[in-house]
Amino acid sequence: MDVNQRMERLVEQLNQYNYHYYTLDQPLVSDKEYDVLYDELTLLETETGIILPDSPTGRVGGDLLKGFKPHRHLSSLWSLDKAQNEEHLLSWNNRVLKLIADYNGKNPDTPLPAPTYVVELKFDGLTLNLTYSDGQLVQAATRGNGVVGEGILAQVKTIRSVPLSIPYREGTIEVQGEGIMNLSVLAKYNETATEPLKNARNAAAGALRNLNPRTTAERKLNAFFYNVGYSDDISFADHREMMEFLKDNRFKVNPYVSYFDSFDEVMQELHSISESRASLDYLIDGAVIKITDMRTREALGYTDKFPRWAVAYKFEAEETTTVLESVTWNV
Ligand code: NAD
Repeated sequence: MDVNQRMERLVEQLNQYNYHYYTLDQPLVSDKEYDVLYDELTLLETETGIILPDSPTGRVGGDLLKGFKPHRHLSSLWSLDKAQNEEHLLSWNNRVLKLIADYNGKNPDTPLPAPTYVVELKFDGLTLNLTYSDGQLVQAATRGNGVVGEGILAQVKTIRSVPLSIPYREGTIEVQGEGIMNLSVLAKYNETATEPLKNARNAAAGALRNLNPRTTAERKLNAFFYNVGYSDDISFADHREMMEFLKDNRFKVNPYVSYFDSFDEVMQELHSISESRASLDYLIDGAVIKITDMRTREALGYTDKFPRWAVAYKFEAEETTTVLESVTWNV
């Protein structure tokens, strides 16, 4: 098989896996298997300079399910750049340092500060984008393809911790987070379920994209919020201010959010998160490292697919070769 055929094969295979993961919420392979093939395709694209038109490397998410009203996000939702090991993380940080130095070279009167970092858990569930108009929750959507998502307001309203109204009433804002199913809730659900659920990520994603909100309600979902993606007229100087805004407006923010001045400290922290992962009552598939300063974020900007100011450090997947038995196990 030559390189072109291999690339065609990878594109076809990954698109098939994407369909099962994003559209049906029933993955055919583990994340690790998916990531190995995705990385192979990315490498071949870099080496050959060829990107096939239907390559998944240029797009966010998957197709929208029919039956839900589409919602156009007020600002795009992104994927995240990934680092599988410390070397990748260091190259991400070196790229950040270089971009900051380039910017400062061109803008000596308004230089960016030295980067500081925030580390958050990478929740493994379904991205949620909530729209509030004059303080009222008026829409909730999936990430979809990043530009347009599926409107799932009735389903999201079943999550008790999602505020239906917020104190901030100045125009429209969009707030992003992750809908999840706690592992203890999944275990309890399975005690009496006729069709047990195997995996908390697919259980949450499948329930939120179920046309019947009663099914969503039965799963007793939860959510953590971590971003204000759009607002008519608020801006934040840094991540800390944004998180305070979220808490003041009664959003559920994960208690673990840590700030660091140096990248060495970030690297050490990732080890301890990885070790404590098993004690959490929800799934995480890694940690997300973000630059705290908002002006720096704006200067670094975005690729077609992800922000240059954030990276996901993916932990070793817990299962590598399980083909989910969708016949026996519902999502
Ligand atoms: P991603 O891994 O690039 O991460 C982006 C998402 O992370 C965001 O949409 C957000 O919802 C979530 N997130 C969780 N915590 C966050 C936080 N604290 N801050 C910011 N974002 C946070 O998402 P993606 O592009 O949908 O996923 C690609 C990954 O999905 C692949 O690496 C693969 O592991 C998995 N995948 C698996 C299959 C499969 O068949 N098993 C198929 C497709 C994708």
